[in-house]
Amino acid sequence: MFDLNKLLRPNILNLKPYSSARDEYEGKVGIFLDANENPFGNGLNRYPDPHQRELKAAMSRLKNVSREQIFLGNGSDEPIDLLIRAFCRPGKDKVLLNPPTYGMYQVSADINDVETVKVPLTNDFQLDVASILKETTPVKIIFVCSPNNPTGNAIDANAIKALLEQFEGIVVVDEAYADFSVSESFVSMVKDYPNLVVLQTFSKAWGLAGIRLGTAYASEAIVDVLDRVKPPYNVNTFSQRVALEALANVDSMRGYVTQILNERARMKEELANFAYVEQVYPSDANFLLIKVAEPLALYNFLVEKNIIIRDRSRMTGLAGCVRISIGTKDQNEILLSAMREFADVINEEQV
Ligand SMILES: *Cc1c(COP(=O)(O)O)cnc(C)c1O
Repeated sequence: MFDLNKLLRPNILNLKPYSSARDEYEGKVGIFLDANENPFGNGLNRYPDPHQRELKAAMSRLKNVSREQIFLGNGSDEPIDLLIRAFCRPGKDKVLLNPPTYGMYQVSADINDVETVKVPLTNDFQLDVASILKETTPVKIIFVCSPNNPTGNAIDANAIKALLEQFEGIVVVDEAYADFSVSESFVSMVKDYPNLVVLQTFSKAWGLAGIRLGTAYASEAIVDVLDRVKPPYNVNTFSQRVALEALANVDSMRGYVTQILNERARMKEELANFAYVEQVYPSDANFLLIKVAEPLALYNFLVEKNIIIRDRSRMTGLAGCVRISIGTKDQNEILLSAMREFADVINEEQV
């Protein structure tokens, strides 16, 4: 049923990828006069490993998948773009999104001149599987974000499995927030589903948004496609080094996650106490979506106090909503006290 070669753009199927100096000679020792590098310098004079071998070996051990099922990109935004570029012919093929969701899918599609078909999430922010599968416009890729940004909830695993089993194109499961969720990750399922791509990132739980490193887990065949389309040296030496250090110290990441989850639980209760907070949505991520009476006024009030949250009130189905990332205990306390002041402002207006 699933035929990768039929799904690929013909120019990508037939692509002869760039062969770098480091592809043609893979040894580690020697006098390297093959890449027009500068012979002086502290190691950064050399090009990075285009295949990120050490890093993939470490990730393979941590995630219990084979190295051939791992693609590394310049943030997970890079594989989002590469997937659209590899599978969708500009002006012809389409991708399917489930709003309200992460904005980069739409932007990447727009940049590639690829139309999006939108099937909104249900009222409880779950996939509308029946409507997705009934969609008559042919689509190449479905983007599912779980836990979903900006709603915060994990998507029902059986709904995702139904798509994987019944949709003949690629199903991307974006798990940027997986480390904050008790739901099972789909990474271990890449061996079962030839059309599954799971995205994760170092930007959230690992606390390394600055190094721009994202991961796509998929079948060897799909990873091979991404590798052929990517810029040869897409993950720089510095990012590879920092990620290796982080992987050697997984406990520190787990420590961050524990603190953030404790604060999330506390903030959930605190926020629910405000009269002007109409709803605090359940969260499986490192942020809370709340519904308030005057989202824009709250946003502007907080900006005046140098506290920046995200106004999401103009997104599909999110009238009145703002998204608040979980900060440190001190940062969260400062937010709460500013929100108490905002309550006074609203009360005065009403007098
Ligand atoms: C933050 C986030 C990412 C991370 O993107 P990077 O490019 O890896 O920083 C990916 N997907 C979603 C849904 C996000 O919210």
